Amino acid sequence: MTRDRRVRVLLPMSIGGAYDYRVPDHMPVEAGQFVKIPLGPREVVGVVWKEADNSTIEASRLKDIADILPVAPLPKGSRTFVDWVANYTVQKPGRVLRMAMSVPDALYPKAPRTGYRRSGEEPAKLTPARRRVLEILEGDIARTLSEITDIAGVSSSVVKGLEKLSVLEAVALPAEEDIPVPDGSGTGFELSDLQRDAADRLCEPVLKPEFAVSLLDGVTGSGKTEVYFEAIAACLQAGRQALVLLPEIALSSQWLSRFERRFGVRPVEWHSDLTQGERRRNWRAVIEGRAEVVVGARSALFLPFPDPGLIVVDEEHEASFKQDEGVPYNARDMAVVRGHLGGCPVILASATPSLESLVNAQNGKYRHVKLPSRYGGASLPTVELVDLRVHRPGSQRWISEPLREAVEKTLEAGEQAMLFLNRRGYAPLTLCDACGHRLQCPHCSAWLVEHRLLRKLQCHHCGFSAGAPKACPDCGESDSFKACGPGVERLAEEAGQLFQGKNVALVASDTLTSPKAAADFVDAMSRREIDLLIGTQIVAKGYHFPHLTLVGVVDADLGLSGGDLRASERTYQLLSQVAGRAGRAEKPGKVLLQSHMPEHPVIDSLFRQDTEAFMESERQARESAFMPPFGRLASLILSSKDAESVLSCCRELARSAPHGDNFLIMGPAPAPLAMIRGRHRYRFLLKTAKDTNIQSIIRRWLKGQKIPSNTRLQVDIDPYNFL
Ligand code: ADP
Ligand code: ZN
Ligand code: ZN
Repeated sequence: MTRDRRVRVLLPMSIGGAYDYRVPDHMPVEAGQFVKIPLGPREVVGVVWKEADNSTIEASRLKDIADILPVAPLPKGSRTFVDWVANYTVQKPGRVLRMAMSVPDALYPKAPRTGYRRSGEEPAKLTPARRRVLEILEGDIARTLSEITDIAGVSSSVVKGLEKLSVLEAVALPAEEDIPVPDGSGTGFELSDLQRDAADRLCEPVLKPEFAVSLLDGVTGSGKTEVYFEAIAACLQAGRQALVLLPEIALSSQWLSRFERRFGVRPVEWHSDLTQGERRRNWRAVIEGRAEVVVGARSALFLPFPDPGLIVVDEEHEASFKQDEGVPYNARDMAVVRGHLGGCPVILASATPSLESLVNAQNGKYRHVKLPSRYGGASLPTVELVDLRVHRPGSQRWISEPLREAVEKTLEAGEQAMLFLNRRGYAPLTLCDACGHRLQCPHCSAWLVEHRLLRKLQCHHCGFSAGAPKACPDCGESDSFKACGPGVERLAEEAGQLFQGKNVALVASDTLTSPKAAADFVDAMSRREIDLLIGTQIVAKGYHFPHLTLVGVVDADLGLSGGDLRASERTYQLLSQVAGRAGRAEKPGKVLLQSHMPEHPVIDSLFRQDTEAFMESERQARESAFMPPFGRLASLILSSKDAESVLSCCRELARSAPHGDNFLIMGPAPAPLAMIRGRHRYRFLLKTAKDTNIQSIIRRWLKGQKIPSNTRLQVDIDPYNFL
C-alpha cells in the first residue's frame, strides 16, 4: 500500500515552525507554493518547504492542505536564503519567512477590472460630453469607468448611455498594472578611461554570469553611480533582475532622477513610504519577474526574486544596513550571501569602505575596483583644522571666528556653505539652573532633547515627548531651565544672527519627513535659494550640489567618545562623507574641522585625507584585539519591565554558560542604555575566533533554557549597536 504524499509547510510566524501536511490526491503541490492549511481552528497561509517522506506522524493525525494560492511559488533562491539567514542569525525560520512575505494581500490576484472600448460608429446625437469620451478612447484603448469620468469630466451615465447604443463595449482589463520597463540598451555619459575600465570589471561577472563580489572603492564624486549603472545595463540586457540597496532610499530623489535619465523610467521602489497598494503591486511584480530593477531599503533583500542577476549595495559602509529589531541582520553581509546562493554578482560601493570589506578585498575574497580621483578633474577639497582650544567661540556660541570668516567669504562670493552638526533639536540637555536637575525620559536612561521648533522635549530612544515643565520638579524653582550644548536648531539660530540677510536652511530627519520634502530641499539647493545649509547626517550622504564649496564641521569630536568598537571608523567615514559634499564641480571646495583634540588620530587622518593610513591603523588595532573582522562577536540582550525577572534570567544564563578555550563570554552587565521604553536591559557579549561556529555555541547555551514570558532574549550576531 502506498503512503499518502506528505509535505512540510513553513509558517510565517515568530513561533513559527514547520508542520507536516497530507497532499490530497491529484492536488498539484510543488515546493515553494503558497498554500492554505488548517492550523487549530484557523486556516493560515504557509509555504511548501520540502517533501516530508520520513514524517513519522500517524496518518490519521495529518491534516490536508486546503488550497494552493494563485500566485507564483516562492523561488528556490529565496527559500534557501530564508533557511540560511535563520541559521546564521539563530532565529526561527518562520520569522525570516515573514520578512519574505510581508504583503499578505499580494498572494491573491486583484479582482479583474472592467474597461470600456469603442465598438461602433459615432452615435447620431454627438453631444460635447459624448465627444470627449470618444476622444479619449481613440486608437482602440480601453479605460476603466472611473478613468473615463475623471479624464473626460463626464458623469457615468454618459458612458452607460454610449454602451447601450453599442458605441462602447465593456471589456476585461488585465488585473495587474503594468510595470514600466527600463531600457538597458542606451548609453549613459561617456566614461573616462578609468571609469570604463572599472565598469568593464564590474560587468564581467554579470555577463558570465557568476557569483563574485566587487568592492567599488572610489572617492566622492568619482562617478561610482555612473559606473555601476553600466553593470545594471548589462544585467538588463541579459534579461535578469537587478536589485540596488540604498540607505535612506526614500530620500534619494537625486538617485531616482539619475536612474530615470539613464534608463528611461523609474525603477520599482521598496521602502517604508510606499502605500499598501504600491507594496502589493511591487511585490507581485518581483515574484512574477516583471520588476527588472528594484531599488530599496535593506528589506528589499527579502523580496522573492526568481532570477536575480545583480545586487548592488551602495554606501556599503552605512550602519543603517544593520537591523537591530526583529531578526537582527546586516543587509550588506546578507546581500553577499544572497548573491552566493543565487549565483549572482554583488557590487559593494563606497567612498569609505568598511574595514570588513577592505580586508576581504585585501585578502582576495573580493575584487578591488578603485576610482581614485574625482570625475572631470574636480579636485578633492582642502581640509583645515580649527583648534577650539585656541579659537574659543565664546559662551553659548559654537561657530569659531575662522569658521565664521570662511562662511562669510563663501557667501560673499555667491557660493553655498554648509555647517554640519550631527545632533537633532535645539539642545541635547536641559538642566535646572538652580539645582542642576536634568530632564530625563521617564521610560529610558536618556536625557530629553529640546526641540524648540516643535515646542517639545523629546526622547530620541522611545519617542516620548512632553512640554517643558513650568517649574523644576526637583527644587520647585520656576523658569529655571537652561539649554546645554548645541543641536542644529540652536546652531541655525546662531548662524541667523551671524549671517543676516542670508537664507539659512535647517535640514534634519525631523524636517525632511517625506520624499516630497526631500525633493523640494534638493530643488531649493540647486536653484540656490539656500545660502547656508545647516544639517545633520541626513545631508551628508550622496547629494551632489555643484555650488556648495564650503563645509564646516562644528564638532568633529562628536562620536569619538564612547566604547563603541567602530566609533573611530564611523566618525572617519561620516566626516569624509560630509567633506565630500564640498566642491564637487569646477569650483574647489574647502572643509573646516572644529576640534578640541586636533592631534587625535581620526582628526589627524581626516586633515591629511589619508584614508589608507587610517584604515591600516584601524586594521592593526582590531587585529591585535581579535575584534571583527578578525574575531567574531555576538550579543545576547535580555530585557524586561520587571527588573527582578531580567536579573534572575541573567543569573541562570550565567550559571549555565558554556566553557571552552576558543571563546569568551563577558557579562552580564547592564547595557549602556540600561533602560529603554521602561524595559530594563542587560547584555552578554560572546567573543570567538574568526573560524569558530559562534551560532553553535549559542544554541548549545540556550538549549533547554526557560525564558519567562515577561522577559525577552534577543540574539544579535555581528552586533553594530552596543547600546
Ligand atoms: P560618486 O557616487 O562616486 O560620488 P557620482 O556618480 O555621483 O559620484 O558622480 C559625480 C558627478 O559627476 C555626478 O553629477 C555625475 O553625473 C558626474 N559624472 C560622473 N561621471 C561622469 C561622466 N563620465 N560624464 C559626465 N558626468 C559624469
Ligand atoms: Zn531645580
Ligand atoms: Zn525614552
